[in-house]
Amino acid sequence: MENSAASRKMTSRFVAGRTLADGVNVLKNLSKDKILGTLDYLGENVKNLDEAAQSRDSYLAALHQIRAEKISATVSLKLTQFGLDLSESACRDNVAALVSCAQQMDTRVEIDMESSAYTDRTLAVVREMQSAFPGHVRAVIQAYLFRSEADIKVLSALAIPVRLCKGAYREPAEVAFPGKADVDENYLRLMRLLFSEGNYPAIASHDESIVQAALRHIQEQKLDATRFEFQMLYGIRRDLQRQIVAKGYRLRLYVPYGDAWYPYFMRRLAERPANLLFLAKNALRA
Ligand SMILES: Cc1cc2nc3c(=O)[nH]c(=O)nc-3n(C[C@H](O)[C@H](O)[C@H](O)COP(=O)(O)OP(=O)(O)OC[C@H]3O[C@@H](n4cnc5c(N)ncnc54)[C@H](O)[C@@H]3O)c2cc1C
Repeated sequence: MENSAASRKMTSRFVAGRTLADGVNVLKNLSKDKILGTLDYLGENVKNLDEAAQSRDSYLAALHQIRAEKISATVSLKLTQFGLDLSESACRDNVAALVSCAQQMDTRVEIDMESSAYTDRTLAVVREMQSAFPGHVRAVIQAYLFRSEADIKVLSALAIPVRLCKGAYREPAEVAFPGKADVDENYLRLMRLLFSEGNYPAIASHDESIVQAALRHIQEQKLDATRFEFQMLYGIRRDLQRQIVAKGYRLRLYVPYGDAWYPYFMRRLAERPANLLFLAKNALRA
């Protein structure tokens, strides 16, 4: 199903395409509009260490291509794609090979955050990478988790840049706020904390009220536009993307490519049930 032409049509709104060339093409077009990118080779929960090594090699090829094309972009990966469930040490070695390459190319590896079962292990790998390759790794913090304020304080003390998002996984009420209003309120609190104590935070949200609150805070505090960035997902809220760039702020789009689109795509559908309607209409038209 992941390889069929019908599915390609269905996913093209959120996924750049199947190949690295497709991903790089999107990055090039974005750079014409002064939008930065972070390239994501789709995949998670690999089944063996050969697959993990293939993921690493695909990311190394992506970094080389970004460099060859002289594009300003980072890469974003998931640790379960690099073997975290199979061998923590093999996973760390795979990530270190990539972050070392990113250091040589003067860019950064962004380590996505998966479900709460992985939070501790993911942050431990991020801290190790920061100590070996300072400034070339970014962590992701999810505002729906109760623990996130404490995590931000630790990461900020180590000068690790943080991408702040709401969180995309189904989490139990023991670890995460179940209600949207509480998540949004916590997001705003954590955002202010990152603006005051963080190192080059990324405000990753398509929520208009959050983006407007961030813009107000930036203006009130007279924050320098080079000290933070906004981030959004490819294909979502292009109107809001344009507004941010028009105001002179940095925006980075998360650009996924590859065949393993299914879990990513399902999370995008779950975030916004109206997407199902959009899909159904397209299917009827086809
Ligand atoms: C750059 C980036 C990286 C991310 N990395 C991670 C990560 O590592 N780990 C993780 O758990 N989550 C990650 N996320 C996803 C994030 O956690 C949320 O699930 C997602 O961004 C939706 O939350 P929101 O802040 O946009 O607010 P919401 O309240 O969910 O949405 C606000 C508005 O945005 C628009 N919108 C949001 N989602 C969609 C959609 N799927 N389709 C169409 N419109 C939509 C709608 O207009 C909606 O009303 C990332 C998000 C971004 C932008």
